Amino acid sequence: MSTQNQVLSATGRTRLRRHSERGKTEHADLLAVLDAGMICHLGVVVNGAPLVLPTAYGRIGDTLYLHGSSANRSLHAADGQEVCVTVTHVDGLVCARSVFSHSVNYRCAVVFGTARIVTDEAERLAGLRAVTEQLIPGRWDAVRAPTRKELAATSVLGIPLSEASVKVRTGPPGDEPEDLDLPVWAGVVPMAQSFGEPEPDPALRPGIVTPDHIQVRAGLAPTSRSA
Ligand SMILES: Cc1cc2nc3c(=O)[nH]c(=O)nc-3n(C[C@H](O)[C@H](O)[C@H](O)COP(=O)(O)OP(=O)(O)OC[C@H]3O[C@@H](n4cnc5c(N)ncnc54)[C@H](O)[C@@H]3O)c2cc1C
Repeated sequence: MSTQNQVLSATGRTRLRRHSERGKTEHADLLAVLDAGMICHLGVVVNGAPLVLPTAYGRIGDTLYLHGSSANRSLHAADGQEVCVTVTHVDGLVCARSVFSHSVNYRCAVVFGTARIVTDEAERLAGLRAVTEQLIPGRWDAVRAPTRKELAATSVLGIPLSEASVKVRTGPPGDEPEDLDLPVWAGVVPMAQSFGEPEPDPALRPGIVTPDHIQVRAGLAPTSRSA
């Protein structure tokens, strides 16, 4: 069942204890943080010890999909296990007048759930497509589809978005009132992720122009309109 219009239900482990006023309570807030990202961190217990690794992801409805080699240790350790996935955006460095009050402006999602290796072929393909499209919208249909051998070498992990928290910090530093008169610069250094000019593969066949989906991803005008 889709929970797109629902409120994020706080559970024992998703209830924010520190700075709970920074918590977001709409399911839409969770989707906004996830959809704005490309890389998550998957936390899973492997052989009795925690392992947290960065990896790409995609989303279809209320399922997060991760993919990797069939030999990927953490994906397979996660099958049928409780995992924790985080997605973080750093929006600025918050410079206070005191060392103690320095902070970071951010949007962050933490997802808990039982992961499963996806075995249904249609869902596997959809999951792989979602991961690709999360990185570069429009890419899946523009490139060669995976072969059976490539698919056999790839695992897809599904994680439900049913238990999650979202925490967001915005705004200026929160110095103590007695520090406000200190002769120290305070404020926020905004931070944003951006793409550079696409660099064609030196081995690119002559005559292939940069496609629109790459131009758009790089924040440039589509080639077909700029020609
Ligand atoms: C980029 C960045 C940098 C940070 N740097 C620091 C730092 O240097 N020092 C520091 O103390 N804290 C930092 N934080 C905040 C940190 O993530 C924790 O929220 C905070 O430390 C409270 O930890 P806790 O264990 O007391 O969490 P609790 O409030 O006890 O956590 C309870 C539950 O709240 C939810 N939750 C907690 N934190 C987050 C989060 N960030 N996003 C979404 N859900 C969350 C989780 O579901 C968690 O299980 C940073 C956060 C970000 C995104």
